[in-house]
Amino acid sequence: MVNRNVLVLGELKSGSLRSVSFEAIAAAQEIAGNGQVTAILIGEEIQGYSDEMIAYGADRVLTVEHKNLRNATSDGYAQALFKVMEEEQPDGLVFAHTALGKDLAPRVASRMDAGLVSDVTGIAREEETIVFTRPLFSGKAIEKKVITEGLMMATIRPNNIPPLDRDPSRSGKVESIDIEIENLRTMVKEIIHSKSDGVDLSEAKIIVAGGRGVKSAEGFGPLQELAEVLGGTVGASRGACDAGFCDYSLQIGQTGKVVTPDLYIACGISGAIQHLAGMSNSKLIIAINKDPEANIFHIADYGIVGDLFEVVPALVEEVKQM
Ligand code: FAD
Repeated sequence: MVNRNVLVLGELKSGSLRSVSFEAIAAAQEIAGNGQVTAILIGEEIQGYSDEMIAYGADRVLTVEHKNLRNATSDGYAQALFKVMEEEQPDGLVFAHTALGKDLAPRVASRMDAGLVSDVTGIAREEETIVFTRPLFSGKAIEKKVITEGLMMATIRPNNIPPLDRDPSRSGKVESIDIEIENLRTMVKEIIHSKSDGVDLSEAKIIVAGGRGVKSAEGFGPLQELAEVLGGTVGASRGACDAGFCDYSLQIGQTGKVVTPDLYIACGISGAIQHLAGMSNSKLIIAINKDPEANIFHIADYGIVGDLFEVVPALVEEVKQM
C-alpha cells in the first residue's frame, strides 16, 4: 500500500465549509493510501472549522490566519499555500473544482512544477498508481489520466466523489502556521451578494430548472415551491435567463454552471446541446415538456409530456402528502 502525505484545501462559503471540501478529503485519502491527509484552512477566524474537517476524515488540520486572508484572492491564498508546501513537502495536493480551486491550482502547479489533473470525477488506486477520471468535451468523452512523477495535484468536481461518513468522535491535531501576507496585488474591497445567492448550484443535490417555457419571472414560483418541498434549489436554462425571467447566476450549461445533482427536474426546457453540456451527467433526470418531440426527452430517465403549470403544482401536492 502506498504511503503519501496529501494536503487538501478546505473552502468556506458564507460562513460554512463547502460540502465539496469533504469530498476532496475522501479523494485525498484515496491518494494517500496509508499516508496522512492534512486539511489546510486559510482565512481569518477559521479555528472553528477544524473539527468538521477531522470528522470527515482529515488526520490533521493546519490553519493559516491573517487579516489579509479574510476574503479569498488567489494571490493571498497562493502565498499561504507556498509557505505550507515549503514546510510540509507534500506528495499530493487536492482542491475543489470551484472558482477558487480553478484559479489557485494552476498557479500552484506551475510554481511547483507539478502535474495537475483538473475537474476530476473519479479516483482509483491501481497498486502504486493513482488513476484520475475526468470528463471531456462537455461529458461526451471520459479521460483516464496518471501523474507520472513528482507532486500530484487534482481539482475535484463537486457531487462526484462521495465523502467519507461523518464521525465526530474522530480526533486529529490542529496546528497553526504564522505567515506575513504582503504585497498583495489584488484585494477584495466589498462583496455584493446577488439576489439568488443561496445553495451553490454546482453542489446542489436536487435542482428544479426552468426554461423559456416558464414564460415569466412569476412562472418560476411553482418551480421554487417544488424545489422547497424537495429540499433542492432552482436553476435555469439560458433561454430563461436571456428572457429576463431570472438571474444569470442560475444558468446551467456550456456557458453557465456544470451540475451533477442526484435529481434534475427540467421544466419547459427544450434540451439544446449547450444546456445538456451542463447537466447531462445528473444522476436522475426528469423532464416536463408539452412537446413530445423535445430533445430533452432523449436524455431524460423519466419524461412527463404536459403543461408544466399543471404538472409542477401536482408534483408539489404529491410530495407534500409523502
Ligand atoms: P427553448 O428552446 O425555447 O425551449 C422552451 C421549451 O419549453 C420548449 O421545448 C417548449 O416545448 C417548452 N414549453 C413551453 N411552454 C411549456 C409549458 N407550458 N409546459 C411545458 N413545456 C413548455 N443554453 C443553456 O441553457 N445554457 C448555456 O450555458 C448555453 N450556452 C450557450 C452558448 C452558446 C455559444 C450558444 C450559441 C447557445 C447557448 N445556449 C445555452 C442557448 C441554447 O442554444 C438554447 O437557446 C437554450 O438552451 C434554450 O433555452 P430553453 O430550452 O429554455 O428555451
